[in-house]
Amino acid sequence: MIPLVKKYKTTNEYFSVFKGFTAANAGSFISEKVNDYCIGSAKIPKQKTDENYYYFVISRSENPDWQWCVPQEDEGYFLILSDDLIFGCSKSQRGLFYAFKTFEKLSRDGSLPVCEITDFPDNSFRAFHMDMRYGFPSLGRMLEIIEILSDMKFNTFIIEYENRFPYQKHSDICDADCFTPEDIEKIIEYTKERFIKIIPLQQTIGHMEYLLKHDKYYPLREVREFPKTACSCTFSTSGFKHFNDIDEICASSSEAYEISKKILSEMIKLHPESEYIHIGCDEAWNLLSCEDCKREYENDKNRLYTSHISKMAKIVTDSKKIPVIWDDMLQKFSEKELKRLKELNPTLVIMCWLYYASQYQKAVTYVKKYKDVGFEVLGASAAKCSEGPEPQYLDMPWYSQRMNGIDMWARVCGELSLDGFCHTCWSNYSGTIAPPHPFFDTTWYTTAYAAQSAWNASSSQNGFDTLFIEDFFGVKGKSGGFDNRNEQAFYLFDEIVNTCKAHLYEAEAMRVMSLLSAYRQKSLFVHRELYRLRMNITAQEKNIIKNRLSEVKSLRDRLMPMVFNIIAKHYTKKDCEIFINSRFEADTELENAYEKDLI
Ligand SMILES: [Zn+2]
Repeated sequence: MIPLVKKYKTTNEYFSVFKGFTAANAGSFISEKVNDYCIGSAKIPKQKTDENYYYFVISRSENPDWQWCVPQEDEGYFLILSDDLIFGCSKSQRGLFYAFKTFEKLSRDGSLPVCEITDFPDNSFRAFHMDMRYGFPSLGRMLEIIEILSDMKFNTFIIEYENRFPYQKHSDICDADCFTPEDIEKIIEYTKERFIKIIPLQQTIGHMEYLLKHDKYYPLREVREFPKTACSCTFSTSGFKHFNDIDEICASSSEAYEISKKILSEMIKLHPESEYIHIGCDEAWNLLSCEDCKREYENDKNRLYTSHISKMAKIVTDSKKIPVIWDDMLQKFSEKELKRLKELNPTLVIMCWLYYASQYQKAVTYVKKYKDVGFEVLGASAAKCSEGPEPQYLDMPWYSQRMNGIDMWARVCGELSLDGFCHTCWSNYSGTIAPPHPFFDTTWYTTAYAAQSAWNASSSQNGFDTLFIEDFFGVKGKSGGFDNRNEQAFYLFDEIVNTCKAHLYEAEAMRVMSLLSAYRQKSLFVHRELYRLRMNITAQEKNIIKNRLSEVKSLRDRLMPMVFNIIAKHYTKKDCEIFINSRFEADTELENAYEKDLI
């Protein structure tokens, strides 16, 4: 069971799921679910209905009775599973929903353990973040993703729509495949039923590629002249600090401000029930590139940043909502500067993102620094992130790093009394140009571990692979698959595909993507040998290269339709094209260039 329950008392006996007399007092959603087990309405004594607790009951008797045993934690629940009574109760509707989720999961095989469960989360903020720079799931798939998140008892979903949001006033920035307002209403309704709060994310200074890439908006960028630098190149894989000139808007431009205000206001308007609005504000590395900004802010980068985000945060607070920002631009702020930011934005929430366990000390330092001036702080781990440009992790997340990063945030949340952390899932490392990171469905393992660690602060990675494979796929007694050993992972997921009782699509995706990772390593290795074809080598030497190349081609021919089918099932035609081209086009072109040398 993920997340593991806190207290579990069992007699080690089992019984079959039964239909009985039912009742529930927690709204129509749970009532409808309980109805699936109904042969008639249970008669509940009046004193039980007068109590301020939520409950559901499935009973063999028409007159069920029980003793309340309700945990005092807000999202906590108590669950009895026995041959004559299935009963869940909680102080809150959300807690009762979790009780029902636990019952549903335990009854997946048709038989249930006789047990009593008392359960509650250690962190009240358990968020998953998803950006849509690359990969636009169909509405149906979005709802499936939300269902999985609710199975894992996440209670917050941060959606970074990018240009998949149906902007009305600047509809020219919308992708041809974008949500309609009705789609978003459906997503909101679906998450609400599952007690997940949406925090929409609208970038307001950096990562505005989807706006600035258009000719019409290009003049609004901060980097209007490519900066002169002393050195013509750097060691950074993505180049100079300025990833590209379409990343950031100019903070001094009134026109850029007006557009940011309009698109942010539209996002707020379409999420009337969202208490929090994330305004991004991360990785604005190019601040003070333009003369207007230098003049207006007297070369004071932190003053510029404070001024700009305060204007953006005000749009949020004017709508009676709470603004959230990423913290990386604040890491070098002095105490005085942070105090000024707090004075201007008393409700601002800071989300500190650090994705590696080696950054534990940094996390502690930054969180303390923000908390000391009174900010509410939340953490952020990663399901996949900028390891994407590294060839060995192109098609699989770097699982050990991601898991250790989750452990770090579980520890920091406990030590510094944070409400919790968000598990971020990045689709590529920078905007419109970069190729996709590993495919979305390779991340459920770390996402499940984030759910487990957010619910239970003292979680362990030991045995989590076996637990996950059993919980997620319904396959018992298997281990491995999440240590970036591609061949072993491929054979394991091939077996899981053939035996799983749940999440077949995700198992198929893992099978294909582990094979694709093996292909990547193989192609890199073999392509490094091609230069020899143009040197004076013997026919025997040439044969070795020919044979190796033929293996690469054969694997690619097998893989391409497999990858295509996985992506095409739930994503757009353009997503298929981008992914396939990003993984195979350069390889094919390179091999074509050497084809005549093979003869
Ligand atoms: Zn500027």
